[in-house]
Amino acid sequence: MTVKEIFDTMEYGPAPESDKNAMEFLDKHRRSFGLYINGKWVSKKDTFPAVNPASGETLAQLAEASSEDVDAAVKAAQKALPEWVKAGGAERARYLYALARQVQKHSRLFAVLESLDNGKPIRETRDIDIPLVARHFYHHAGWAQLMDTELRDFKEIGVVGQIIPWNFPLLMLSWKIAPALAMGNTLVLKPAEQTSLTALLFAEICHNVGLPKGVVNIITGHGSVGAALANHPGIQKIAFTGSTEVGKIIRKDTAGSGKKLSLELGGKSPFIVFEDADLDSVVEGVVDAIWFNQGQVCCAGSRLLAQESIADRLYEKLKARLQKLVVGNPLDKGIDMGAVVSPEQLKTITSFVDKGKNEGSEVWQLENIPSGGCFFPPTLFLNVSPASVIVQEEIFGPVLVAMTFRSHQEAIKLANNTRYGLAASLWTENINLALDVTPKIKAGTVWINTTNVFDAASGFGGYRESGFGREGGLEGLMEYVKPRNEKAFAEKSFAFKVSGSTKTRGEALDRTPKMYIGGKQARPDSGYSLQVLNPAGQVAGEVGEGSRKDIRNAVEAAQAAGKWAENTGHARAQVIYYIAENLSARKKEFEERLTDACGYSAKEATLELSRSIDRIFTYAAYADKYDGRVHNTTSRNVTLAMNEPLGVLGIVCPEEFPLLGFVGTVIPAIAMGNNVVVIPSESAPLSATDFYQVLDTSDVPGGTVNIITGPKETLATELARHYDVEGIWYFGTQEGSKNVEVLSVDSMKRSWVNYGKHYDWLTNPLEKEFLRKACEVKNIWVPYGA
Ligand code: NDP
Repeated sequence: MTVKEIFDTMEYGPAPESDKNAMEFLDKHRRSFGLYINGKWVSKKDTFPAVNPASGETLAQLAEASSEDVDAAVKAAQKALPEWVKAGGAERARYLYALARQVQKHSRLFAVLESLDNGKPIRETRDIDIPLVARHFYHHAGWAQLMDTELRDFKEIGVVGQIIPWNFPLLMLSWKIAPALAMGNTLVLKPAEQTSLTALLFAEICHNVGLPKGVVNIITGHGSVGAALANHPGIQKIAFTGSTEVGKIIRKDTAGSGKKLSLELGGKSPFIVFEDADLDSVVEGVVDAIWFNQGQVCCAGSRLLAQESIADRLYEKLKARLQKLVVGNPLDKGIDMGAVVSPEQLKTITSFVDKGKNEGSEVWQLENIPSGGCFFPPTLFLNVSPASVIVQEEIFGPVLVAMTFRSHQEAIKLANNTRYGLAASLWTENINLALDVTPKIKAGTVWINTTNVFDAASGFGGYRESGFGREGGLEGLMEYVKPRNEKAFAEKSFAFKVSGSTKTRGEALDRTPKMYIGGKQARPDSGYSLQVLNPAGQVAGEVGEGSRKDIRNAVEAAQAAGKWAENTGHARAQVIYYIAENLSARKKEFEERLTDACGYSAKEATLELSRSIDRIFTYAAYADKYDGRVHNTTSRNVTLAMNEPLGVLGIVCPEEFPLLGFVGTVIPAIAMGNNVVVIPSESAPLSATDFYQVLDTSDVPGGTVNIITGPKETLATELARHYDVEGIWYFGTQEGSKNVEVLSVDSMKRSWVNYGKHYDWLTNPLEKEFLRKACEVKNIWVPYGA
């Protein structure tokens, strides 16, 4: 070929990366790997192959761990824990730095091995995955160093079980292992069966840097190994990334166990293009959003929402760009897309695309892709219906579905029209528009004029069925620590010892408070009332017997009161201060209620009341102070980590401290902008029902606080089941806690339960924890700097 011909065609020549070193690494291990437990390699007879999806070639045999191996790995991690904690943050930081350097020193070996094992282009493993892995270890080495100052009120959780998927094998490993080690935990990690090789190379590196044995254990195998790990009683926390389906299984299986859980699950993220966007940048953004990593990205921008006025122009550009993509050998540096991970995944993608075609959508695909191997062409569906299967389901392949919108309100509605809430990408040159739309999108990450950028300093994670918890940033560290003050929750109640020799005032039965829904008093739908007895067994009053229908009405009212969240923290603080003042003004009446209904002495009633007023003032003060951060990420962005309210929060109050337990939960929740549905103490609900008169006179908007009285466990069950309740706090029995965790699974709501233990409501040792549990962090990537 002459130079002129080359210039005429501008064809790429092949630019293959050598696999020599990777093959030597595999040969050195005789193409067979054991489990890495307690600093040693344990070989197994039971094995399965690691296969290159681009060629079908078997790369090595991997060990299938048994439940005894899982047990041995957990025991090794347990044994290593005390010394690892004792080592302290500064020493742990040295190990993390050493791991970061080792990853950098062997970066090309990691990159090639990852491409061989997973099928992703070397360009991506070399320039994105592996540099980000090193960045994670460096960043978290810093956090280990700073733990004693920046996280002095927190300590390690213990032994952590980590289960990761196949789409970013080493990167997901680093997201899990780096923060866990930094905070003083030891761990057992299971990579995905399809992509274990780089995790095993990482185990070798742990060995080489002299990481104490048992601190990191890596066990390979199929899903059953993950299940055995998640269910092992020696594990205190599980960190899982993978499908929503398996995430739900883990949530259910671990309910009631007290294991801390972070779940990073699926997504169907919107990619929204407004009419003033720079369309050429948008096209490259789309390539990164859905054709990066063959579309096997949990936060892939897989739903393109284009403003009607520019949609046709954008579609033309996309079709042209799609035809220029090159699909080929993952080790070729000139390709855009490699192979998908496995024949099963290829089958899944193909079947979704067939469904889309059968639904009659207009489809564009690249024609020229390699034959043999797990290759799938970049695919574009145009003008699909919002209800279509390919619009609703996570395909996890290079398949983009496009639809149009007219107004930005419609864009928001379409963007949120999914059961997921992982990420979103917005494209506009109008900063006001971008920052107006951002808070209205239910997504853990929002990228403005960019997409699929990640950094160790920024949190990542979802809402709704995309799971909960964050990875990265300070918010990610919180998943690997627990408050030092564990005594805040105790087996023994902190409640006052009540004599039982109390008497009621005459008017008890005349005062039958109603429930409180949407700012109005409401009779129970059931038409029944329940007697409230004091400790002496006398009738102290009656309350409505709430049921499923009342919960539904209350949730609807709470949803309709969305504007509360849009208030400034200052405005919310003013209202909450007003609540405190109004409660103070009715001090005597509330004290009498506590002595009558709960058998308190005058002194005890005064104490609970004064603590309640103080608690309200405290959380009012926090309303405009518990704010976010600006994360210092590595690209041309700043990342705003905003504390957002969860939305509708269900609160099941403790039985003890009926007033303090009520304000101690409701007030921090509304201070952060949530609307709440509260079930007060079942045995002593009267001070909570009196409280709605205080709310009525304090400018609290209707629907922000809704109070449903009645049988606690039945009502808690309804709250936990309700799909539109986004978080639930439960203070009750161990059994009730388990029930709430099991039932939260459908909508993957965030649950906070006490496992039957008692909280010290009088001193409130976990003051800030109530604020943290009332929020989720949204990370917003805003263009900034040169
Ligand atoms: P899974 O959720 O099944 O796998 C993720 C990890 O969990 C793997 O290590 C897997 O092991 C393990 N695992 C499987 N079953 C259990 C269990 N019962 N308990 C504990 N751990 C378990 O994802 P798949 O690999 O099967 O992919 C299926 C679909 O999931 C994809 O098509 C895609 O839609 C979605 N997915 C989403 C990801 C995300 O990041 N959001 C990542 C990967 C997949 P093993 O691999 O050995 O089965």
